[in-house]
Amino acid sequence: MDSAADGAPVSGAAADVAARAADGQRGDVWVVVQQQDGVPAEVSLELLGRARELANTLGVGVGAVVAGCGRDTNAFVERLPMYGADTVYYAAHEALGEYLAQPYAAVLCQLIRAEAPQIVLFGATTTGRDLAPRVASALRVGLTADCTDLRIGDHVAKGEQYKNLLYQVRPAFGGNIIATIISPEHRPQMATVREGVMVMPEPQPERRGRIVIVDVDEVDQAPGDATMTFGESDHPLSNMSLGPAFITDADQAVTLVRRVQEEKRVDLKGARIVVSGGVGVGSREGFALVEELAHTVGGVVGASRAAVDAGWVAHDHQVGQTGVTVRPKLYIACGISGSVQHRAGMDQSARILAINTDPLAPIFSVAHYGIVGDLHKVIPLLIKAYRTKGAAGDGGAS
Ligand code: FAD
Repeated sequence: MDSAADGAPVSGAAADVAARAADGQRGDVWVVVQQQDGVPAEVSLELLGRARELANTLGVGVGAVVAGCGRDTNAFVERLPMYGADTVYYAAHEALGEYLAQPYAAVLCQLIRAEAPQIVLFGATTTGRDLAPRVASALRVGLTADCTDLRIGDHVAKGEQYKNLLYQVRPAFGGNIIATIISPEHRPQMATVREGVMVMPEPQPERRGRIVIVDVDEVDQAPGDATMTFGESDHPLSNMSLGPAFITDADQAVTLVRRVQEEKRVDLKGARIVVSGGVGVGSREGFALVEELAHTVGGVVGASRAAVDAGWVAHDHQVGQTGVTVRPKLYIACGISGSVQHRAGMDQSARILAINTDPLAPIFSVAHYGIVGDLHKVIPLLIKAYRTKGAAGDGGAS
């Protein structure tokens, strides 16, 4: 028998989860919430919003799983029901204070076996991309990375009817097709989703949920026949506990020596106006014009991947499938053709203005306003017009 990443026998675990699924048990929709000292990864909250919609369609609950410890994390955990969670599983333990793949995966696998959710979602952050495959392989289930949409639907294959599956939608073959991926026979169905793709839910302060404290024990070796049970907790957040989950010595083979965090230099996602440049800008020097327009209108500079690849602008400015997904009030695309990969990151903008010499450029198919012309002539006119007229009104994106 194989051994999973968390030390448990794999085939037994998979059989157990599969049996629950086959048994007609309808597990909840879970989101693995990423946070550090109470500061969440935005994608986790976005996912709670989508999990709520999926759970409503399925008629089940939403679970949020959080690991960590400390006052700030406690305060954050209490707020999670506002974003759509019915149950928050809080693995409050010092060994989980900082993200480390092995102990996090171990606890998560044990929780999933105990509670048998039918869907588990992760943000496609560095952490999510590290954690989700470990958990999926330990449980011997599938995982679809970088989904751009999640829906519930049915499927028929080889005469078998599968109901209420998770449709895991993502671009494939270099973005040339949109693939819908399903996992009909294995539970949980697991996916990662990139930041900004789902809409952030409005917090509902009156919404309440239950908090379950996950008891975590540090042990030399996990007992083979352990099962998690509900009990009482003396944690200040909740009197309900579930456990024990075990972290073994082997799970703690890696020690975090120091965490170094680079400041986020560009906040494309939060920008009300994004002014992006592409190959049509022509050169690094030409990009200064895009930057000037962005500066004039109070926007943030974005770019196509081709402009980034040309070295005209840093990768943090890239908009699109392999860059950032933005939804500003105004998106100005300068010299960008509008490939499917670029559009995937900006076509949900409230208003899109495209400037391009080619009237047939695909960007015009998603633009609300189009200017057919040379950006080197058009942008200075826009800047001039904004400075003389726009500044008198709000001139911005409202
Ligand atoms: P081009 O397609 O070369 O378009 C340049 C445009 O500028 C043309 O429409 C032209 O008419 C216009 N133009 C030229 N001169 C002027 C002028 N003087 N004034 C006005 N207009 C002018 N791309 C992204 O952007 N983001 C991504 O995240 C991304 N991810 C990708 C992932 C994969 C797996 C793959 C395969 C590709 C990805 N791409 C991405 C690349 C994408 O396919 C395109 O190659 C890229 O978006 C093209 O960039 P562009 O529009 O700047 O260049």
